[in-house]
Amino acid sequence: MEMKNKLYNDLSSYLKMLFGKKVYKITIDSGLTCPNRINGTGCIYCNDRGSGTGLYAIGVDIESQIKKGMEGLKRKYKSIGGYIAYFQSYTNTFAPIELLEKNWSVIKNFKEIVGLSVGTRPDCLSDEVLNLLNSYTKEYKVFLELGLQTIDEDLLKWVNRGHGIAEFIDAVSRASKYNFHIVVHIIIGFMGQDREDMIKLAKFLSNLSVHGVKIHLLYVAKNSPLEKEYEKGLFMPLSREKYVELVSVFLEYLREDIVIHRLTGDAHRGELIAPKWSEDKAGVLKDIVDFMEKNEIYQGKRWN
Ligand code: SF4
Repeated sequence: MEMKNKLYNDLSSYLKMLFGKKVYKITIDSGLTCPNRINGTGCIYCNDRGSGTGLYAIGVDIESQIKKGMEGLKRKYKSIGGYIAYFQSYTNTFAPIELLEKNWSVIKNFKEIVGLSVGTRPDCLSDEVLNLLNSYTKEYKVFLELGLQTIDEDLLKWVNRGHGIAEFIDAVSRASKYNFHIVVHIIIGFMGQDREDMIKLAKFLSNLSVHGVKIHLLYVAKNSPLEKEYEKGLFMPLSREKYVELVSVFLEYLREDIVIHRLTGDAHRGELIAPKWSEDKAGVLKDIVDFMEKNEIYQGKRWN
């Protein structure tokens, strides 16, 4: 892959290459919860929606969510080659195996679905779950999305993740025996985070069997524990310029074949407290591209 002309290995090109057509994600809330919320207050940036749509709680079952998602995408795009069912909200492997099977098997009712994506925590990934996911690889491309967020153990404690780096490495090592596309979620925006932290994180991931990365900005969501820290003046979000620089450095040191599933995150409508600049998602993405071009940065330029 010649990355110099491309800047970074973007998801939509990867999906086009994989399926030979345009494929879109449908986000699903299957009504599960998260061990970190049951046993405590959850991650510092998480509120009671658990990053989800909240649709299940208001009575919209999985099948209806898929239909609704398809209708919405068909209104938006002329040509759709297929869909990926993305079980996003909370921890999507935190349930008895029979319930997971029941939830995931709903996708079999839709012939247009070509991929299954499951988001979870590294400490919630039993071999039984991996085997069940593996049974889907015969007919579907399976994406396993693991939250890591940071490789700084002190920050993991501050975030209140409830797991360390060892659990993440163990999860990746067990999952990599299967034919999954493993996506790692990371966060940029911790106070004091600098170029060196980005380089360490990019090199750490590049040396593991991971296939994709989702980059999130650490923003303050309404009703999250981080909102209280922010109100007390104990947390300051990154500036837009610093975020753009740190994302670019991260990409520069990241293995070039790793697919970039996202370059920044956005809060649900009405939930963002700060930083307000993150609402301008398209502008931020443009800033990242401009910064990379200006500084002759491309993904993988310095990874080894
Ligand atoms: S693991 Fe996910 S759902 Fe659970 S508390 Fe953290 S962010 Fe929220």
